[in-house]
Amino acid sequence: SLVLGIETSCDETAASVVRSGRHGDGPGEIVSNIVRSQIADHAPFGGVVPEIAARAHLQTLDGIIERAMAEAEATFQDLDAIAVTSGPGLAGGLIVGTMTARAIAAVHSKPLFTINHLEGHALTARLTDGVAFPYLLLLVSGGHTQILLVRGVGDYERWATTIDDALGEAFDKTAKLLGLPYPGGPQVEKAARKGDPKAFDFPRPLGGRETLDMSFSGLKTAVRKAALAEPERVDDICASFQTAVGDVLADRLTRAFERFKQEYSRPAALIVAGGVAANAYLRARLQTITQGKDWRWIAPPPNLCTDNAAMIAWAGVERLAANSIIEDEGIRPRWPLDPDAAQRLGSGK
Ligand code: ATP
Ligand code: MG
Ligand code: FE
Repeated sequence: SLVLGIETSCDETAASVVRSGRHGDGPGEIVSNIVRSQIADHAPFGGVVPEIAARAHLQTLDGIIERAMAEAEATFQDLDAIAVTSGPGLAGGLIVGTMTARAIAAVHSKPLFTINHLEGHALTARLTDGVAFPYLLLLVSGGHTQILLVRGVGDYERWATTIDDALGEAFDKTAKLLGLPYPGGPQVEKAARKGDPKAFDFPRPLGGRETLDMSFSGLKTAVRKAALAEPERVDDICASFQTAVGDVLADRLTRAFERFKQEYSRPAALIVAGGVAANAYLRARLQTITQGKDWRWIAPPPNLCTDNAAMIAWAGVERLAANSIIEDEGIRPRWPLDPDAAQRLGSGK
Protein backbone atom coordinates (compact mmCIF):
# COMPACT_ATOMS: atom_id res chain seq x y z
CA SER A 1 0.00 0.00 0.00
CA LEU A 2 0.97 3.65 -0.47
CA VAL A 3 0.36 6.12 2.38
CA LEU A 4 0.87 9.88 2.75
CA GLY A 5 1.98 10.93 6.23
CA ILE A 6 1.66 14.41 7.71
CA GLU A 7 3.44 15.64 10.86
CA THR A 8 2.92 19.06 12.49
CA SER A 9 2.91 18.32 16.24
CA CYS A 10 5.84 20.49 17.24
CA ASP A 11 8.34 22.54 15.25
CA GLU A 12 8.81 20.39 12.16
CA THR A 13 6.43 20.64 9.23
CA ALA A 14 6.73 17.32 7.45
CA ALA A 15 5.13 15.17 4.75
CA SER A 16 6.20 11.81 3.40
CA VAL A 17 5.01 9.03 1.13
CA VAL A 18 5.80 5.49 2.26
CA ARG A 19 5.15 2.15 0.61
CA SER A 20 4.55 -1.06 2.57
CA GLY A 21 7.06 -3.89 2.41
CA ARG A 22 6.58 -6.80 0.07
CA HIS A 23 4.92 -8.90 2.75
CA GLY A 24 2.76 -6.15 4.14
CA ASP A 25 5.03 -5.62 7.13
CA GLY A 26 8.50 -4.06 7.30
CA PRO A 27 10.85 -2.96 6.12
CA GLY A 28 8.96 -0.37 4.14
CA GLU A 29 10.10 1.96 1.40
CA ILE A 30 10.36 5.69 2.00
CA VAL A 31 9.37 7.09 -1.38
CA SER A 32 9.65 10.74 -0.32
CA ASN A 33 10.42 12.42 2.98
CA ILE A 34 10.26 16.21 3.30
CA VAL A 35 10.97 17.93 6.62
CA ARG A 36 10.96 21.67 7.11
CA SER A 37 12.41 22.59 10.46
CA GLN A 38 11.25 25.85 12.07
CA ILE A 39 14.50 26.27 14.00
CA ALA A 40 15.21 29.67 12.43
CA ASP A 41 11.71 30.91 13.35
CA HIS A 42 12.05 29.99 17.04
CA ALA A 43 15.79 30.48 17.63
CA PRO A 44 15.51 34.18 18.59
CA PHE A 45 13.18 33.12 21.45
CA GLY A 46 15.34 30.26 22.74
CA GLY A 47 12.56 27.69 22.40
CA VAL A 48 9.40 26.77 20.51
CA VAL A 49 6.76 29.53 20.50
CA PRO A 50 3.37 27.82 19.93
CA GLU A 51 1.77 30.70 17.98
CA ILE A 52 4.75 31.03 15.66
CA ALA A 53 4.78 27.27 15.17
CA ALA A 54 1.10 27.14 14.24
CA ARG A 55 1.43 30.00 11.74
CA ALA A 56 4.53 28.47 10.14
CA HIS A 57 2.75 25.10 9.76
CA LEU A 58 -0.23 26.84 8.18
CA GLN A 59 1.96 28.77 5.73
CA THR A 60 4.18 25.87 4.64
CA LEU A 61 2.27 22.59 4.99
CA ASP A 62 0.51 22.70 1.58
CA GLY A 63 3.82 23.28 -0.19
CA ILE A 64 5.54 20.52 1.80
CA ILE A 65 2.78 18.04 0.90
CA GLU A 66 2.99 19.08 -2.75
CA ARG A 67 6.74 18.42 -2.73
CA ALA A 68 6.34 15.04 -1.03
CA MET A 69 3.76 14.00 -3.63
CA ALA A 70 5.84 15.34 -6.53
CA GLU A 71 9.00 13.55 -5.37
CA ALA A 72 6.99 10.36 -4.98
CA GLU A 73 5.57 10.93 -8.49
CA ALA A 74 2.19 10.09 -7.03
CA THR A 75 -1.24 11.68 -7.16
CA PHE A 76 -3.68 11.70 -4.25
CA GLN A 77 -5.71 9.11 -6.20
CA ASP A 78 -2.74 6.70 -6.04
CA LEU A 79 -2.81 6.71 -2.23
CA ASP A 80 -4.40 3.98 -0.13
CA ALA A 81 -4.68 6.17 2.96
CA ILE A 82 -3.69 9.42 4.64
CA ALA A 83 -2.04 9.33 8.07
CA VAL A 84 -1.69 12.39 10.28
CA THR A 85 -0.38 13.08 13.77
CA SER A 86 -3.34 14.04 15.97
CA GLY A 87 -1.39 14.12 19.24
CA PRO A 88 0.41 14.54 21.51
CA GLY A 89 1.80 17.97 20.72
CA LEU A 90 0.94 21.65 20.38
CA ALA A 91 -2.76 22.22 19.66
CA GLY A 92 -2.27 24.82 16.92
CA GLY A 93 0.00 22.65 14.80
CA LEU A 94 -2.14 19.56 15.36
CA ILE A 95 -5.19 21.47 14.10
CA VAL A 96 -3.40 22.56 10.93
CA GLY A 97 -2.23 19.00 10.21
CA THR A 98 -5.47 17.19 10.94
CA MET A 99 -7.66 19.70 9.05
CA THR A 100 -5.42 19.41 6.00
CA ALA A 101 -5.36 15.61 6.16
CA ARG A 102 -9.11 15.43 6.63
CA ALA A 103 -9.68 17.63 3.59
CA ILE A 104 -7.42 15.49 1.37
CA ALA A 105 -9.04 12.28 2.63
CA ALA A 106 -12.56 13.60 2.12
CA VAL A 107 -12.00 15.04 -1.34
CA HIS A 108 -10.35 11.87 -2.64
CA SER A 109 -12.43 9.37 -0.63
CA LYS A 110 -9.44 7.85 1.16
CA PRO A 111 -9.34 6.42 4.66
CA LEU A 112 -7.81 8.70 7.30
CA PHE A 113 -5.66 7.43 10.15
CA THR A 114 -5.14 9.81 13.08
CA ILE A 115 -1.84 8.66 14.51
CA ASN A 116 -0.26 9.01 17.94
CA HIS A 117 3.11 10.71 17.31
CA LEU A 118 4.73 8.35 19.83
CA GLU A 119 3.46 5.35 17.87
CA GLY A 120 5.34 6.81 14.92
CA HIS A 121 8.57 6.85 16.94
CA ALA A 122 7.79 3.40 18.36
CA LEU A 123 7.27 1.67 15.00
CA THR A 124 10.11 3.34 13.07
CA ALA A 125 12.40 0.32 13.51
CA ARG A 126 9.87 -1.80 11.62
CA LEU A 127 9.92 0.67 8.74
CA THR A 128 13.73 0.69 8.58
CA ASP A 129 14.58 -2.87 9.63
CA GLY A 130 11.40 -4.92 9.67
CA VAL A 131 11.85 -5.82 13.33
CA ALA A 132 9.41 -8.47 14.57
CA PHE A 133 7.14 -8.05 17.64
CA PRO A 134 7.64 -8.08 20.57
CA TYR A 135 10.60 -5.80 21.16
CA LEU A 136 11.98 -3.55 23.85
CA LEU A 137 12.02 0.16 23.13
CA LEU A 138 13.75 3.11 24.73
CA LEU A 139 11.84 6.20 23.61
CA VAL A 140 13.80 9.36 24.36
CA SER A 141 12.49 12.59 22.90
CA GLY A 142 11.69 16.21 23.66
CA GLY A 143 8.60 15.41 25.70
CA HIS A 144 8.98 11.73 26.63
CA THR A 145 11.39 9.29 28.24
CA GLN A 146 10.01 5.79 28.43
CA ILE A 147 10.93 2.15 28.26
CA LEU A 148 8.16 0.31 26.43
CA LEU A 149 7.37 -3.28 25.62
CA VAL A 150 6.06 -3.14 22.06
CA ARG A 151 3.86 -6.20 21.60
CA GLY A 152 2.13 -5.21 18.40
CA VAL A 153 0.53 -2.34 16.51
CA GLY A 154 -1.40 -0.39 19.15
CA ASP A 155 -0.23 -2.75 21.86
CA TYR A 156 2.24 -0.97 24.11
CA GLU A 157 3.10 -1.64 27.74
CA ARG A 158 4.99 1.06 29.58
CA TRP A 159 7.70 -0.30 31.85
CA ALA A 160 9.30 2.95 32.87
CA THR A 161 9.01 6.68 32.58
CA THR A 162 10.76 9.77 33.85
CA ILE A 163 9.45 11.08 37.14
CA ASP A 164 10.40 14.64 36.22
CA ASP A 165 12.10 16.04 33.08
CA ALA A 166 12.10 14.34 29.69
CA LEU A 167 15.62 13.59 28.49
CA GLY A 168 15.40 15.91 25.47
CA GLU A 169 14.26 18.64 27.84
CA ALA A 170 17.29 17.96 30.06
CA PHE A 171 19.57 18.34 27.02
CA ASP A 172 17.82 21.55 25.98
CA LYS A 173 17.96 23.02 29.50
CA THR A 174 21.62 22.08 29.89
CA ALA A 175 22.36 23.89 26.63
CA LYS A 176 20.47 26.95 27.80
CA LEU A 177 22.32 27.04 31.13
CA LEU A 178 25.59 26.98 29.20
CA GLY A 179 24.56 29.68 26.75
CA LEU A 180 24.39 27.31 23.78
CA PRO A 181 21.80 28.07 21.07
CA TYR A 182 18.46 26.31 20.68
CA PRO A 183 17.80 23.47 20.00
CA GLY A 184 20.22 22.27 22.61
CA GLY A 185 20.55 18.54 22.07
CA PRO A 186 22.85 18.59 19.04
CA GLN A 187 24.83 21.51 20.54
CA VAL A 188 25.52 19.60 23.75
CA GLU A 189 26.61 16.59 21.72
CA LYS A 190 28.99 18.72 19.66
CA ALA A 191 30.55 20.42 22.70
CA ALA A 192 30.84 17.09 24.53
CA ARG A 193 33.12 15.74 21.80
CA LYS A 194 35.79 18.24 22.84
CA GLY A 195 35.31 17.80 26.59
CA ASP A 196 36.56 15.53 29.35
CA PRO A 197 33.77 13.11 30.39
CA LYS A 198 35.38 12.65 33.81
CA ALA A 199 35.79 16.35 34.58
CA PHE A 200 32.64 16.54 36.70
CA ASP A 201 31.16 13.77 38.80
CA PHE A 202 27.48 14.43 38.13
CA PRO A 203 24.79 12.34 39.90
CA ARG A 204 23.23 9.24 38.33
CA PRO A 205 19.73 9.69 39.81
CA LEU A 206 17.83 6.58 40.99
CA GLY A 207 20.86 4.42 40.16
CA GLY A 208 20.94 0.98 41.73
CA ARG A 209 17.27 1.14 42.75
CA GLU A 210 14.72 -1.53 41.91
CA THR A 211 12.64 0.79 39.74
CA LEU A 212 13.13 1.14 36.00
CA ASP A 213 12.00 4.78 36.20
CA MET A 214 14.33 7.65 35.48
CA SER A 215 14.89 11.13 36.87
CA PHE A 216 16.88 13.98 35.36
CA SER A 217 16.08 17.04 37.46
CA GLY A 218 18.87 16.35 40.00
CA LEU A 219 21.31 16.07 37.16
CA LYS A 220 20.08 19.37 35.78
CA THR A 221 20.62 21.03 39.18
CA ALA A 222 24.18 19.70 39.30
CA VAL A 223 24.80 21.05 35.80
CA ARG A 224 23.46 24.45 36.89
CA LYS A 225 25.85 24.55 39.84
CA ALA A 226 28.80 23.62 37.65
CA ALA A 227 27.78 26.16 35.02
CA LEU A 228 27.62 28.91 37.65
CA ALA A 229 30.92 27.95 39.27
CA GLU A 230 32.92 27.33 36.10
CA PRO A 231 31.02 28.83 33.16
CA GLU A 232 34.03 28.61 30.83
CA ARG A 233 34.18 24.81 30.98
CA VAL A 234 31.27 24.25 28.59
CA ASP A 235 32.84 21.28 26.81
CA ASP A 236 33.74 19.46 30.04
CA ILE A 237 30.29 20.02 31.51
CA CYS A 238 28.61 18.73 28.34
CA ALA A 239 30.85 15.65 28.19
CA SER A 240 30.29 14.88 31.89
CA PHE A 241 26.53 15.42 31.52
CA GLN A 242 26.29 13.11 28.52
CA THR A 243 28.30 10.42 30.29
CA ALA A 244 26.00 10.58 33.32
CA VAL A 245 22.98 10.28 31.02
CA GLY A 246 24.56 7.31 29.26
CA ASP A 247 25.15 5.57 32.59
CA VAL A 248 21.56 6.12 33.73
CA LEU A 249 20.06 4.86 30.45
CA ALA A 250 22.40 1.87 30.29
CA ASP A 251 21.57 0.88 33.89
CA ARG A 252 17.79 0.96 33.31
CA LEU A 253 17.90 -0.63 29.90
CA THR A 254 20.07 -3.46 31.14
CA ARG A 255 17.51 -4.18 33.82
CA ALA A 256 14.61 -3.92 31.39
CA PHE A 257 16.50 -6.32 29.14
CA GLU A 258 16.78 -8.83 32.02
CA ARG A 259 13.07 -8.50 32.72
CA PHE A 260 12.22 -9.11 29.07
CA LYS A 261 14.38 -12.23 29.04
CA GLN A 262 12.57 -13.54 32.12
CA GLU A 263 9.13 -12.93 30.62
CA TYR A 264 9.83 -14.23 27.12
CA SER A 265 12.89 -16.44 27.53
CA ARG A 266 14.01 -15.73 23.99
CA PRO A 267 16.09 -13.04 22.30
CA ALA A 268 14.45 -10.10 20.61
CA ALA A 269 15.47 -6.59 19.61
CA LEU A 270 16.49 -3.60 21.67
CA ILE A 271 15.56 -0.36 19.95
CA VAL A 272 16.12 3.32 20.62
CA ALA A 273 13.91 5.98 19.09
CA GLY A 274 12.98 9.64 19.47
CA GLY A 275 15.04 12.79 18.95
CA VAL A 276 17.65 12.06 21.62
CA ALA A 277 18.34 8.70 19.94
CA ALA A 278 20.02 10.76 17.20
CA ASN A 279 22.89 11.31 19.67
CA ALA A 280 25.94 9.38 18.41
CA TYR A 281 27.54 9.03 21.85
CA LEU A 282 24.40 7.54 23.42
CA ARG A 283 23.84 5.23 20.44
CA ALA A 284 27.35 3.83 20.82
CA ARG A 285 27.06 3.60 24.60
CA LEU A 286 23.74 1.74 24.57
CA GLN A 287 24.75 -0.59 21.79
CA THR A 288 27.19 -2.23 24.21
CA ILE A 289 24.24 -3.64 26.18
CA THR A 290 23.48 -6.21 23.49
CA GLN A 291 27.10 -6.84 22.49
CA GLY A 292 28.03 -10.49 22.58
CA LYS A 293 24.38 -11.45 23.07
CA ASP A 294 22.05 -12.85 20.44
CA TRP A 295 19.84 -9.77 20.55
CA ARG A 296 19.36 -7.33 17.70
CA TRP A 297 20.29 -3.73 18.39
CA ILE A 298 18.62 -1.11 16.25
CA ALA A 299 18.95 2.64 16.21
CA PRO A 300 17.17 4.10 13.17
CA PRO A 301 19.16 6.66 11.15
CA PRO A 302 19.31 10.01 13.01
CA ASN A 303 16.96 11.76 10.57
CA LEU A 304 14.30 9.15 11.36
CA CYS A 305 14.85 9.52 15.14
CA THR A 306 14.04 13.24 15.13
CA ASP A 307 10.57 14.26 14.03
CA ASN A 308 9.54 13.32 10.50
CA ALA A 309 6.44 12.27 8.58
CA ALA A 310 7.80 8.97 7.25
CA MET A 311 7.22 7.44 10.68
CA ILE A 312 3.64 8.73 10.65
CA ALA A 313 3.01 7.40 7.14
CA TRP A 314 4.49 4.07 8.26
CA ALA A 315 2.19 3.92 11.30
CA GLY A 316 -0.62 4.41 8.77
CA VAL A 317 0.74 1.53 6.66
CA GLU A 318 0.77 -0.69 9.74
CA ARG A 319 -2.73 0.35 10.83
CA LEU A 320 -4.04 -0.26 7.33
CA ALA A 321 -2.40 -3.70 7.15
CA ALA A 322 -3.74 -4.63 10.60
CA ASN A 323 -7.19 -3.39 9.63
CA SER A 324 -6.97 -1.26 12.73
CA ILE A 325 -9.27 1.69 12.20
CA ILE A 326 -8.72 4.72 14.40
CA GLU A 327 -11.78 6.82 15.16
CA ASP A 328 -11.05 10.46 14.24
CA GLU A 329 -11.56 12.08 17.63
CA GLY A 330 -10.01 15.37 16.66
CA ILE A 331 -6.76 16.54 18.16
CA ARG A 332 -5.40 15.09 21.41
CA PRO A 333 -2.63 17.39 22.68
CA ARG A 334 -1.98 15.06 25.64
CA TRP A 335 -2.29 11.51 24.42
CA PRO A 336 -0.32 8.76 26.14
CA LEU A 337 0.69 5.72 24.15
CA ASP A 338 0.02 3.09 26.81
CA PRO A 339 -3.46 2.20 28.08
CA ASP A 340 -2.57 2.39 31.80
CA ALA A 341 -1.50 6.00 31.57
CA ALA A 342 -4.42 6.70 29.23
CA GLN A 343 -6.84 5.48 31.87
CA ARG A 344 -5.29 7.72 34.50
CA LEU A 345 -5.57 10.74 32.22
CA GLY A 346 -9.09 10.10 30.95
CA SER A 347 -9.57 10.31 27.19
CA GLY A 348 -6.35 12.22 26.74
CA LYS A 349 -8.16 15.15 25.24
P1 ATP B 1 7.90 14.09 21.53
O1 ATP B 1 8.37 13.17 20.48
O2 ATP B 1 8.16 13.61 22.92
O3 ATP B 1 6.49 14.53 21.34
P2 ATP B 1 9.36 16.09 20.15
O4 ATP B 1 8.65 15.51 18.98
O5 ATP B 1 9.43 17.56 20.27
O6 ATP B 1 8.77 15.45 21.46
P3 ATP B 1 11.68 14.95 19.03
O7 ATP B 1 11.68 15.83 17.83
O8 ATP B 1 11.35 13.54 18.86
O9 ATP B 1 10.81 15.55 20.21
O10 ATP B 1 13.07 15.16 19.72
C1 ATP B 1 13.53 16.47 19.95
C2 ATP B 1 14.44 16.42 21.14
O11 ATP B 1 15.59 15.63 20.81
C3 ATP B 1 14.95 17.78 21.57
O12 ATP B 1 14.88 17.89 22.96
C4 ATP B 1 16.39 17.79 21.07
O13 ATP B 1 17.25 18.59 21.84
C5 ATP B 1 16.75 16.32 21.20
N1 ATP B 1 17.86 15.97 20.31
C6 ATP B 1 17.91 16.06 18.97
N2 ATP B 1 19.12 15.70 18.51
C7 ATP B 1 19.86 15.38 19.61
C8 ATP B 1 21.19 14.94 19.81
N3 ATP B 1 22.03 14.78 18.78
N4 ATP B 1 21.60 14.71 21.09
C9 ATP B 1 20.76 14.87 22.12
N5 ATP B 1 19.50 15.30 22.00
C10 ATP B 1 19.04 15.54 20.76
MG1 MG C 1 11.26 19.19 16.97
FE1 FE D 1 8.91 13.42 18.45
